Amino acid sequence: MDSLGNYRVYRFGLCLLPPSWKPIAWSRVISFTAIAMCWWILLPFIVGGKGSRLLRLCFLFVHLDIAACEHLLLRTACTDPGIVLRSSSPPADAEKFRLKNGRYPRSKPATVNGVSTHTWFCGTCLIWIPQRGFHCKTCDVCVQHFDHHCEFTGSCIGERNYGLFFGAALTASLAGLLSTVWIVLFVVELTSISSEQKSVLLKLTEGLGSRATLKLVVLAFVMVLGMVFFFSFAGLLLHHLQLLRENITHHEMLRGTWEQSSGPPKSAYPKRSLVEVLKTLVTDRRPESELWSHIQTPGGGSGQV
Ligand SMILES: [Zn+2]
Ligand SMILES: [Zn+2]
Repeated sequence: MDSLGNYRVYRFGLCLLPPSWKPIAWSRVISFTAIAMCWWILLPFIVGGKGSRLLRLCFLFVHLDIAACEHLLLRTACTDPGIVLRSSSPPADAEKFRLKNGRYPRSKPATVNGVSTHTWFCGTCLIWIPQRGFHCKTCDVCVQHFDHHCEFTGSCIGERNYGLFFGAALTASLAGLLSTVWIVLFVVELTSISSEQKSVLLKLTEGLGSRATLKLVVLAFVMVLGMVFFFSFAGLLLHHLQLLRENITHHEMLRGTWEQSSGPPKSAYPKRSLVEVLKTLVTDRRPESELWSHIQTPGGGSGQV
């Protein structure tokens, strides 16, 4: 095992353990508890053959979607986001640009797509940061095409795991919607079994059997959780679709680097249509990991990478 900044690097298949794993671990505990509670209430109804085909189909889709979401979420957290390898000594031209007080320069002039801009120097990694890259203070590494540091996965979102992050947000939003639909369908079917003239709540309480009050509270909690998931992640997806169309990262939007001189000018990266954005998301291949190539090199990647 090696370390890189605050990441821990496991060589089998290049798995990274992000600096902060607690949020993702706790959110898994909440999600799996909610799923187990739903099984406790809904599974006897479905296995007992009382549920309609639609309810069983919804059950299948919810679980397929949750499995896809879990897979994408873990891969987002444990995939190299596009870490730029550190250097043991500053590049030769950094010496050339060295300031009179002995400090390394903050930037040097550069051209991107024919537009004049700057390339920034990272005093921690001792490298010129690639265009649109950034040094994440939490992870203590420079990341290519840095989008943001995700508090949820505890890792950086950059060039190599942005597609996985987008897929995880999409499936999480769908999971919230499908689980709410699933519970609504269950309630409708459970209350329509009895044709007696009773209130819906009474029918529901009778249909749920023992511990009906606790089961009702759990169903209400999962529905609220589902809706929170749906609206939060749907909002996040819309925000990122807009950023992709503008051809701007979340980090650039926050820092307003387009307008100021501290980042690449907007004209260097033209806007894209929604079709182009979707095509990019589906067909874009992740670039080779610098870290993985370094580790595979004989003698490379021992101790601090
Ligand atoms: Zn750096
Ligand atoms: Zn980070």
